[in-house]
Amino acid sequence: MSSKPDPVIQHPRDAIVRVTRSCICGSDLHLYHGLVPDTRVGMTFGHEFCGIVEEVGPEVQNLKPGDHVLVPFNIACGQCHFCKQGLFGNCHESNPQATAVGGIFGYSHTAGGYDGGQAEYVRVPYADVGPTLIPDWMDPDDAVLLTDVVPTGYQAAEMGGIQMGDTVVVFGAGPVGIMAARCAWLFGAGRVIVIDREEYRLDFARRYCPAEVYNFEEIEDMAVFIKKLTDHLGADVCIDAVGGDASGSAIRTLLGKKLKLEAGSSIPLHWAINSVKKGGIVSIVGVYGPTGNMIPIGNVLNKGLTVRANQASVKRLLPRLIEHVREGRINPKELITHRVPLEDVGDAYHMFSAKLDECIKPVLYPNR
Ligand code: NAD
Ligand code: ZN
Repeated sequence: MSSKPDPVIQHPRDAIVRVTRSCICGSDLHLYHGLVPDTRVGMTFGHEFCGIVEEVGPEVQNLKPGDHVLVPFNIACGQCHFCKQGLFGNCHESNPQATAVGGIFGYSHTAGGYDGGQAEYVRVPYADVGPTLIPDWMDPDDAVLLTDVVPTGYQAAEMGGIQMGDTVVVFGAGPVGIMAARCAWLFGAGRVIVIDREEYRLDFARRYCPAEVYNFEEIEDMAVFIKKLTDHLGADVCIDAVGGDASGSAIRTLLGKKLKLEAGSSIPLHWAINSVKKGGIVSIVGVYGPTGNMIPIGNVLNKGLTVRANQASVKRLLPRLIEHVREGRINPKELITHRVPLEDVGDAYHMFSAKLDECIKPVLYPNR
């Protein structure tokens, strides 16, 4: 379908993977909507994929052609200062020009300029670090969600520092928010609340997480609403699983309701900060581009909040997440609503972005 040549080994630690499954992620929507700087024409998107090793470079000792692998979305060297601390999402070597994020497959030149896996084949750098063998017992549809959505949701809950019995509010019932809400229980939450506007996603969250769910379009003042639900204290933990792009749509909705908003405000993040109790924790996994960075820092100070945020460190979390899947505590593939051939990728992006056909998670199948 494309004239782009297949990738080749460029470095002794590279592998080439033949992609069998590749998801579209909420993070891809930031690219799709032109919100990520330095997104160049011709770069292949896709950072959530699994497949079969086709070829390995001479320095890759732990993989061989024919191995079935899932590939974390972070590109990590495994040896730098940050990787050694388990901060695989902040690897310095894979994106030395950036001051913040490490390399990410298919995520613009701000994330290293690597081609992604929404393709038949992908070059995987540092292939001796990230790619992880898919256990024989694991369904590849589960495996592909371990490349991002499951670890990101899990890390959102982990960063929330959830204590036994805590009330956790998750903003966003996309795949990431749904998984964060599901994982909140694994950390001992006593009550899990999910906020979105899409009724079908709220229905799914109610059943799957399970969670109390509320439609923000029916809520006049989020902080007042959450306080009413929590003995007027506020939530113990608030998780932002929306990010910058989707918050733009929320701003438009609220402006439609003639609510007064500060210019540049980031709605879910404001809601999280204002709805958490004093001394509480705000955990941010929603991605923010250059816009949407205005946060009510004064409230953070006055309420004595802890704010934690990061790209998920997939490799660090995989051993325990594989165990959770094996034991049935997390069932990732239930999120998959659409299985789409690669040639229909354009339609799939449109459907996922516009929330059509009750789409939660579309997976592309190249090489089928
Ligand atoms: P998604 O677009 O499918 O879901 C976002 C959801 O947020 C939608 O259901 C939307 O209706 C809802 N929403 C919009 N405004 C809202 C608001 N004000 N309050 C509550 N809900 C609101 O995306 P996704 O795949 O679930 O990803 C969610 C976010 O997580 C994105 O920003 C994505 O970039 C980010 N992400 C981060 C990491 C990481 O490592 N930190 C990894 C993956 C994804
Ligand atoms: Zn993703």
